[in-house]
Amino acid sequence: MGGRRHRVQLFLFLAALAVPCVVLIGLGVRIVKDNRGLRTLERRRHAAEQTAGKLLEALESIASTEIRTDLEPGQRYRHSEVAFIGWVEEDGLALPWEPERDRAAGESRRLFSLPGFAAAIHACDQAKSGHASLSSLNACYERASAAAEHPAQAAYARWLWANDLSEAGRTRQAEDLFSSLLGVDPEITDEGVPLRLLAAQWLARTETQRRAAAASAEAAIAARPWLPLMAAYVANNIAEQLARGAKTADETAAAQNLGKRAAAHSRLLLQADELQNDFPRILPLLRSRPGHRWAGYGEDLWLVGTAGNGGPAAPVFVVRGQDVLQKLAIPGALRLAGAEDPQGERLGESLPGLKVVLADDRLEAARDFQRSVLYFALLLVMAATAFGAYLLWRDLRREMRLSELRAQFVSSVSHELKTPLTAIRMFAETLQMGRCADPDTQAEYLGTIVNESERLSRLVDGVLQFSKAEQGKRTYRFRPMQAADAVTAAARAMEYPLSQHGFRLRIDLQDGLPPISGDRDAVEQAVLNLLSNAMKYSGDARDVELALAGENGEVTVRVTDHGIGIAPEEQSRIFEKFYRAPSPENQLIPGAGLGLALVAQIVKAHGGRVEVESAPGKGSAFSLHFPAL
Ligand code: ADP
Repeated sequence: MGGRRHRVQLFLFLAALAVPCVVLIGLGVRIVKDNRGLRTLERRRHAAEQTAGKLLEALESIASTEIRTDLEPGQRYRHSEVAFIGWVEEDGLALPWEPERDRAAGESRRLFSLPGFAAAIHACDQAKSGHASLSSLNACYERASAAAEHPAQAAYARWLWANDLSEAGRTRQAEDLFSSLLGVDPEITDEGVPLRLLAAQWLARTETQRRAAAASAEAAIAARPWLPLMAAYVANNIAEQLARGAKTADETAAAQNLGKRAAAHSRLLLQADELQNDFPRILPLLRSRPGHRWAGYGEDLWLVGTAGNGGPAAPVFVVRGQDVLQKLAIPGALRLAGAEDPQGERLGESLPGLKVVLADDRLEAARDFQRSVLYFALLLVMAATAFGAYLLWRDLRREMRLSELRAQFVSSVSHELKTPLTAIRMFAETLQMGRCADPDTQAEYLGTIVNESERLSRLVDGVLQFSKAEQGKRTYRFRPMQAADAVTAAARAMEYPLSQHGFRLRIDLQDGLPPISGDRDAVEQAVLNLLSNAMKYSGDARDVELALAGENGEVTVRVTDHGIGIAPEEQSRIFEKFYRAPSPENQLIPGAGLGLALVAQIVKAHGGRVEVESAPGKGSAFSLHFPAL
């Protein structure tokens, strides 16, 4: 019953500890998580705001320095990040490479149609359609060249003549002529396609001029931020030709390079085309805050903005977002992304439809650190709680054991008081009734009564002294004394009860021992307790030895019996107050568990120690060691 109650108590105790602990830990984790989430969000927002600010600043500076909406022949934009600059036209987007707006194309067209030169070329065209001989055609083109007032015109005449030679199967001559065109100004175009690109297209098929063609095409493309659609197509064509005819790894690489550039130009044109279509949707957005708002657009992420009020002819700047970001080199900002990208942080009102993808590495590292601090703190809390629980549990267990022992003590003492009291009463009553006339028997009865009374006094004395000692009230009167005196007195006191129960006590006192500093009564009581125990726990054995010896500056009293003995695991506990060995045979022997506790107290007060040697069934030997004077 008691065990079950204890288990329930223990369970309640642990639950009382565990529940708040779990709640505390849960709350801690929640709070830190929330906090961390918030902090991360805040940090990301801040990083995005900073990026947006710097981006806008860079874009404004680009817009204010790129004042030209169209390029003069040979001119490039000041910033390599600019994809192109168009302008607003009837709420639509005008693109700079559209034939009627391409300055370079327009200039060539103008030169070629100047009256003198145009007439000369026209004459050649007519000769050609009239199936004139090659030599007369040659003469015709020479006349046209002579009429040329501008290098572009001469180049154009040569270009036409080279084509005619090629058509007529004069490959060698054609090749020479096309080669001479590879070095002309890339701004000289035929309907927007640079003449040198067209010459390179022809030469890309030949063995000898392939490399020169590749170099010229490459230079022509690199010279312009954008190419008209036709020119991009030709460039692509040249790249394919070169790739097909490539003999070495170098040639292949050069062809691939050109192909990539041509493809990039084509992609720009395509995306610009899409932008043109979507422009009516984008323009109102830009107009709401002209010059301060840039919309993200397309797969290559262009940033599109206008200057002025976005009205007719206002420039439309189209800038490669990624390039701007790279130039700014903002730490932590990895790349720009469109609104549909699952990653990234929105850049805000001024940059609608745009996000920046942030490097979360450092955040992650900070988070890891936070996490380990949290776990360490939690571990500490748990360790402290566990330690507290252990301490509480230890006290609780000690308390429980003590209360158990106390209960046992009360029953043991009552039991022990009862036996002598019953005997005394029985013999006293017999005598009182005068039933016993025989003087010998009377003397025996009286002897028993005296004996039992002495036992009672000893018992009560023991309890009283123990409680005194427990409360620290017992005082010892230490005097130099011979231990033999106390030992003899104890032996004498036990003589009668021992002989009564048929014990043989062998006493062996060594002579000439040094004195000890002791309280005679206390030492006698300690020996008495040992002798009384030897008697109680002897079982069927009837021999008890009491020895006094001196060794190593100590005087040792040893009481040996041959009784039931003590299990090794009990030997350290028998000196605790109220403790009694739990073996069944021990339970039959009366006792309160105080005798040895008292012995230990007395010996300790004398600066000595008590030892026990014992084996179950073999008997026990208790020795008291007192320091000699
Ligand atoms: P009590 O004898 O009243 O039980 P003690 O403090 O004298 O109390 O002894 C404590 C326990 O030690 C005893 O219950 C017993 O189990 C054990 N004990 C003491 N002396 C001996 C002995 N001589 N032989 C066997 N066991 C002993």
